[in-house]
Amino acid sequence: MISENYLKLSESYLFAEIARKVNDYKKKHPEADIISLGIGDVTQPLASAVIEAMHKAVDEMAVAASFRGYGPERGYDFLREAIVENDFRRHGIDVEADEIFVSDGAKSDTGNFQELLSKKCVVAVTDPVYPVYVDSNLMAGRTIVKLPCTPENGFVPELPSDHVDVIYLCYPNNPTGTTLTKAQLKAWVDYAIREEALILYDAAYEAYIQSEDVPHSIYEIPGASKCAVEFHSYSKTAGFTGIRCGYTVVPKTLRMPLNALWNRRQCTKFNGASYLSQRAAEAIYTSQGKVQIKETTSYYMKNAHVMRASLTDMGFKVYGGIDAPYLWVKTPGNMMSWEFFDWMLQSAHIVCTPGVGFGDKGEGFVRLTAFGTHENTVKALRRINSKL
Ligand SMILES: *Cc1c(COP(=O)(O)O)cnc(C)c1O
Repeated sequence: MISENYLKLSESYLFAEIARKVNDYKKKHPEADIISLGIGDVTQPLASAVIEAMHKAVDEMAVAASFRGYGPERGYDFLREAIVENDFRRHGIDVEADEIFVSDGAKSDTGNFQELLSKKCVVAVTDPVYPVYVDSNLMAGRTIVKLPCTPENGFVPELPSDHVDVIYLCYPNNPTGTTLTKAQLKAWVDYAIREEALILYDAAYEAYIQSEDVPHSIYEIPGASKCAVEFHSYSKTAGFTGIRCGYTVVPKTLRMPLNALWNRRQCTKFNGASYLSQRAAEAIYTSQGKVQIKETTSYYMKNAHVMRASLTDMGFKVYGGIDAPYLWVKTPGNMMSWEFFDWMLQSAHIVCTPGVGFGDKGEGFVRLTAFGTHENTVKALRRINSKL
């Protein structure tokens, strides 16, 4: 017998359906030069500081004296100390090394963390949403409450009128590219403390923040270490989508002993990110590494700004793209998401992601990403403009 919870999952058809439509079109029009602004993957190579660190780590593995097998359960000290110092203490945030759990990325951690929580927990997610939060809780058989994020509320979810136990927040947001200010995030921290709820905060796009009043970490908000777990990833920060490394902060000051339980869970089911990945991640925090990864995030943000400006000039209503590599674009003339997807593909040979794939409130929007090359991004914009 198969888990009845898995049987309840809807077909995850978004990216498969996009690929199918694109392949069909390519078959019929082999000459079409299709540009994807739909991918959620990075395209620029790794920083040279990262490459050097990985080469060095490989050489260490070749010699018995410096060979490394299984690593420490929470990750190597060299990395956890670099994280604490650079991502937190430097910004006046007090996080300790044994509150950091190095992992193979934020998708697994955001998906797995719910295992520590009761089946009875009521879980709130934004709509639209990164599908991992929803599907992992459906797999566990939980009830999910949706918090609409629309132009009307400025993509700022309203506090639930009824009690919820767990809230997933992702800011800067995938898919909308919008952010919360410190004051807006504080309202959620206050809610969580008052309601004895837990916030699961996904900071995967933190490195793209440009605005002063947008928090890089939920722990910038007083009280957050009593009610929030935070997920970080090197995937978008440093192009690690293929390397695999991230970390999760589980404060010891939470109301429940989640730090000890997460340690227990990870020791049971996870044997760590590779030594090579952890040395690669450590290199991001060197002075050379910091400069290099900033160059890459700036490259993508330059794309985002050009996209935002040109699409706005063309008359599109555009959200996001200021502190995030995503733009959330209202379809023209109240077209449905898939209708506009088809128009973009057939008329302009551009691939975008239909917003409805991220939730009902995504209907009437598409997501564009700034992860393409600059040349392709500019070419794509020119093409859209010429077809309008
Ligand atoms: C890309 C992304 C991640 C990162 O996932 P990894 O497993 O670290 O590659 C996490 N959360 C969101 C919302 C993302 O878009």
